[in-house]
Amino acid sequence: MKIERNSQSAAAPGSRETRYWRAVLARDGRADGAFFFAVRSTSIYCRPSCPARRPLRANTLFFQTRQDAEREGYRPCRRCKPNEIPASALIVQRAAQLLENELDEAVSVNILARKLGVRTDALRRAFRQQTGLNPKELAAALRLKRFKKLLREGHSIADALYATGYGSTSRVYERSDAQLGMTPATYQKGGKGMRIKYTTAKSSLGDVLVAATERGVSAVYLGDAAAKLSSELRDEYPSAEIVAEKGAFSDWVEEIVSRVEGGAPRRELPLDLQATAFQRRVWQELQRIPRGATRTYSQVAKALGKPNAFRAVARACATNPVSVVVPCHRVVRSDGNLAGYRWGVSRKQTLLDRERNASGTKVSRVA
Ligand SMILES: [Zn+2]
Repeated sequence: MKIERNSQSAAAPGSRETRYWRAVLARDGRADGAFFFAVRSTSIYCRPSCPARRPLRANTLFFQTRQDAEREGYRPCRRCKPNEIPASALIVQRAAQLLENELDEAVSVNILARKLGVRTDALRRAFRQQTGLNPKELAAALRLKRFKKLLREGHSIADALYATGYGSTSRVYERSDAQLGMTPATYQKGGKGMRIKYTTAKSSLGDVLVAATERGVSAVYLGDAAAKLSSELRDEYPSAEIVAEKGAFSDWVEEIVSRVEGGAPRRELPLDLQATAFQRRVWQELQRIPRGATRTYSQVAKALGKPNAFRAVARACATNPVSVVVPCHRVVRSDGNLAGYRWGVSRKQTLLDRERNASGTKVSRVA
């Protein structure tokens, strides 16, 4: 998208154009990635932080993406190389390496920025752009990963806590709760090293399989045959150690069955999920949809600040391992069609009907 200049009047102070121009004059690296500027007289486009001489304002155009600039015939500048890997990706890469190697210490964002030789706000921005996590969240996730690794290797909890710099057991759990227990994409897939227990219960929507680690719920499946659900669980976590245990975590199971029956949440359910940063953001957003309401895939994408990502949102909904708890059933197509549901569209419809009735919301039936 080219950002058109209003030719009738000078851009108002504080307008987007004015902010962009100010960033260009300041060679503000924080604006890198947010937009590109092109120079009519030279047919070249640059990052805001380009060290080259500033063009005249009248010769300058702004573009949201480099592809837009190139489509209009502008060539990448040889000095700031706006067509190469963005600086933010390199910053995140280097930060991740540093965090992996220095997890024994508590890492603050300021210390991390100093070690990388970048400004704190540049570091924050790079992380937000590249991973959707803030540096603190990433550091916490990486520490948690190392903590779990030490436990798996057979160290005592006290040793593992000491080695990872956690002050107390409760702090570990605080952290994992704050992050919904989800680990970033760097975490190994397949549930390697995870010990998962599961149990099944009856509900009016059929069998409910609930699986959990010692830290939280990792799967909630709905279906007509408990045996089929447990084999799906094994497919989902091929490398995990999976054990059936009748009556396990009965408080969590009771809470989940109550939600299946349309009941309001009565207690927090800790989750232990493997997710990419994007899945994690989508699932958090789904948990904000009120009971009795629905959203479209595009609305969720917009709420995440990525209006074009509705297909990725749909994929993240389809791969949600904890049905009902992360209410992916509250997402429908924009034409009101229910779209798919891993556990059957009729179950989706029933869940929505129950939640609407129970919460007293008058919403016309989507079907
Ligand atoms: Zn340049």
